[in-house]
Amino acid sequence: MNFDFDPADEIFRQEVRSFIRDALPADIRERNLRNYHANRADTRAWTAIVHRRGWSAPNWPVDKGGTGWSAMQQFIFDEENFAAGAPLLETGGLKMIGPVIYTFGTPEQHERFNLPFLRGEISWGQGFSEPGAGSDLAGLTTRAERQGDDYVINGHKIWTTNAHYANWLYLLVRTDPTQKQRGISLILVPADAPGVTIRPIIDIGEGHSLNEMFFDDVRVPVGNLVGEENKGWTYAKFLLDRERAFSAEVPRNKRNFALLKQIARHTRRAGRPLIEDAAFAARLAQLESDLDALTWMTLRALARQGDATWELPVGSILKVRGTELQQKIGEMHIEALGDRGAYVYPEPDFATGEHHWPPGPDYAPGLLADALYRRAVTIYGGSNEIQRTIIAKQYLGL
Ligand SMILES: Cc1cc2nc3c(=O)[nH]c(=O)nc-3n(C[C@H](O)[C@H](O)[C@H](O)COP(=O)(O)OP(=O)(O)OC[C@H]3O[C@@H](n4cnc5c(N)ncnc54)[C@H](O)[C@@H]3O)c2cc1C
Repeated sequence: MNFDFDPADEIFRQEVRSFIRDALPADIRERNLRNYHANRADTRAWTAIVHRRGWSAPNWPVDKGGTGWSAMQQFIFDEENFAAGAPLLETGGLKMIGPVIYTFGTPEQHERFNLPFLRGEISWGQGFSEPGAGSDLAGLTTRAERQGDDYVINGHKIWTTNAHYANWLYLLVRTDPTQKQRGISLILVPADAPGVTIRPIIDIGEGHSLNEMFFDDVRVPVGNLVGEENKGWTYAKFLLDRERAFSAEVPRNKRNFALLKQIARHTRRAGRPLIEDAAFAARLAQLESDLDALTWMTLRALARQGDATWELPVGSILKVRGTELQQKIGEMHIEALGDRGAYVYPEPDFATGEHHWPPGPDYAPGLLADALYRRAVTIYGGSNEIQRTIIAKQYLGL
């Protein structure tokens, strides 16, 4: 059996690698290689650069403004970006709401939202979860009432990632209170519309990526509805399955695993490199075989995209295995770092003009905050308990 990539894919990999080497701004690369979370300014800047090369929608078809790349090329592109310290292109627009708009929305909505998004001009926030509706998302109560040519929205959303950077929000709202799934719609709302309030939630790593959002008589035109009224649940399922498949994050896991080996080679314990400790090395080997299994599962899933005869709930399976691996690798980073992993180093304030990176090896400062953040990956996009229930019902027939 030959596990090598095709020669044409290898040529493509070299093309992507040399583009990133020439085009990625040094400050963005440096922040990422120190393992700080990419901020939205970096993501937008990188999106604009990649757009000029014609590559800002690796997973979209050519007639929608995408590259039309094969699944393998998309995978290689993500791998090379991660390995080089480039930020992820904005997942919310690229892999979630963008495809929903060009599949279920109007051509005008594609022109109005998707094309500016590809130029790095739109950042999205996903307003699905509510204080009383997370796992039971269909129980959401944020209301959108039709009044003439507008919808008037009232309600409360929570856990919205990066809402404070977003200029547009996509919300699931209740348009028919007499129904559950069949009474939900998907609507696009400007983040600065009168009546929208966005408040920060600070996370365990002292970072601000999460928010809650309040909607008080927010008026949006009916033209902002995506698809049909009360069909939002169908669109949400389409979108969430993409979110789950993405959660396997093989390129991130690969990069973080390579980093773990690097730390273990550089760290000395009991007079020798940690990587030579038999117990630690055995755990590394287990992680490596889990990572290989996840990689091949992901590549199989990519190769069979759109194949209706393949009934595996792939999104849920990849989500469970990929997120658990992220957490295990993150925990071992911290263990291997020793004292350096005991403190959350805030990112230096570049705005002051006078900044110093924290002491210690380059790769260390952002790792504890990242490992703490990774506690959430088994929760967001639908918790792993819920994914296990989906696998049990859909595949095992339990
Ligand atoms: C970092 C982070 C970012 C997020 N970003 C966004 C975002 O951008 N937009 C957005 O809309 N939402 C976002 N979320 C919200 C996320 O989707 C929800 O937290 C998630 O769906 C779980 O819902 P909940 O928090 O209400 O927990 P609950 O549904 O209250 O669940 C609590 C616990 O009970 C378990 N549980 C619940 N029901 C069952 C069941 N039937 N069977 C077995 N176990 C069950 C769950 O697995 C979980 O462990 C984010 C969350 C986090 C942590």
